[in-house]
Amino acid sequence: MFEKILIANRGEIALRIQRACREMGIRTVVVHSEADREAKYVKLADESVCIGPAASNLSYLSMPAIISAAEVTDAQAIHPGYGFLSENADFAERVEQSGFVFIGPRAESIRLMGDKVSAKHAMIKAGVPCVPGSEGALPDDPKVIVQTARKVGYPVIIKAAGGGGGRGMRVVHTEAALLNAVTMTKAEAGAAFGNPEVYMEKFLENPRHVEIQILSDQHGSAVWLGERDCSMQRRHQKVIEEAPAPGIPRKVIEKIGTRCADACKKIGYRGAGTFEFLYENGEFYFIEMNTRVQVEHPVTEMITGIDIVQEQIHIAFGDKLRMRQTDIEFRGHAVECRINAEDPFKFTPSPGRIVTWHTPGGPGIRVDSHAYAGYFVPPNYDSMIGKVIAYGATREQAIRRMQIALSEMVVEGIQTNIPLHRELMVDARFIEGGTNIHYLEHKLADMPVLKKEK
Ligand code: ADP
Repeated sequence: MFEKILIANRGEIALRIQRACREMGIRTVVVHSEADREAKYVKLADESVCIGPAASNLSYLSMPAIISAAEVTDAQAIHPGYGFLSENADFAERVEQSGFVFIGPRAESIRLMGDKVSAKHAMIKAGVPCVPGSEGALPDDPKVIVQTARKVGYPVIIKAAGGGGGRGMRVVHTEAALLNAVTMTKAEAGAAFGNPEVYMEKFLENPRHVEIQILSDQHGSAVWLGERDCSMQRRHQKVIEEAPAPGIPRKVIEKIGTRCADACKKIGYRGAGTFEFLYENGEFYFIEMNTRVQVEHPVTEMITGIDIVQEQIHIAFGDKLRMRQTDIEFRGHAVECRINAEDPFKFTPSPGRIVTWHTPGGPGIRVDSHAYAGYFVPPNYDSMIGKVIAYGATREQAIRRMQIALSEMVVEGIQTNIPLHRELMVDARFIEGGTNIHYLEHKLADMPVLKKEK
């Protein structure tokens, strides 16, 4: 096994990876910016290297700084976490060219999946069902664009091939608005992602977001670890995730899970990954693949007992998958609430010093967070400061435990979205299960706290 791994990330996922390594007896190097110098997980690491100032582009996104840190510390492999450079094919390539192992897929796979047009093409070829839409990128010819939309049927959604993080998408309801929307999305995509290519999909009106976790080794084996429902979203960003997805027949999940594992074998995928789908009227439609560990991976870990980060490390080292599909058992239910440093109802970021930090506990409760009393939440990064995960034998028990956990949790000094989560955990529609991707936005629009403001 590797003796030393460099963690090229920050916050809760840096700590999560560090814990996985320590359990495996692997020494860790944490790289950090000047803003994260005092963080406890940085001190807990065997070694730490400051790679630059607070601004991400000068630190967590600086490939030369990270690679030199690996060189000076004699690390053998680099774990990129999520976000930052985790889905950057050039980084994966440079890591490997510099003689380190990239804990993630081969650069070709990242490239293939990072472009949504080529990803969709590969999935259609591999037999994974996709949202009906344009065949590849939209051409410049306005006549062809209009014809394509007529064929697909309104409403349609124009999406950037290079898009990510819920950006670079535009819904079009009428032919009159079509060409302008395409032009605008192209211009934005060019500016934001350096790739003006866009494609068209049927806009599904009431889907759920259901995704499949996979693990695939370098020896041609792949397994799927069940699904996660991430339909509770605001501005295309996940707020609550759970596993399994309520109310979807196991046969339907098994069929799509098998397709995903087969697709991994077909494209020679290596590592952990997630196939994201929209699920509507009993059908799955592929939207994209994430070629990294995801924020919501713990809910899968809770119901399978598999440590996904440790499996990533084993796969990167070249080990064969340590389980067969028939070994994987799904037991109970898990729910995750993302805890953000922000105003719970207005969503403005709330960085600053945490004065009180009291985390919940008890049966089935897991808190993945790097925060503590006295910790300063820097204003420079994503507002997520941790995750509370509740496990139960049933969905009802998991939700009940989450309600208690959230009632115990006290964070003072900064604002968090805990009050919002408390309301969502007693929401009748959420408790019933199976809400669609628009539900949370509609609920937020109707909330008395927000209505008062208007
Ligand atoms: P990103 O890479 O930016 O996350 P995705 O393709 O994963 O983009 O889409 C993000 C979200 O946008 C989805 O979870 C869903 O809420 C919405 N979305 C994307 N494609 C469609 C579609 N064809 N119909 C309806 N909603 C869509």
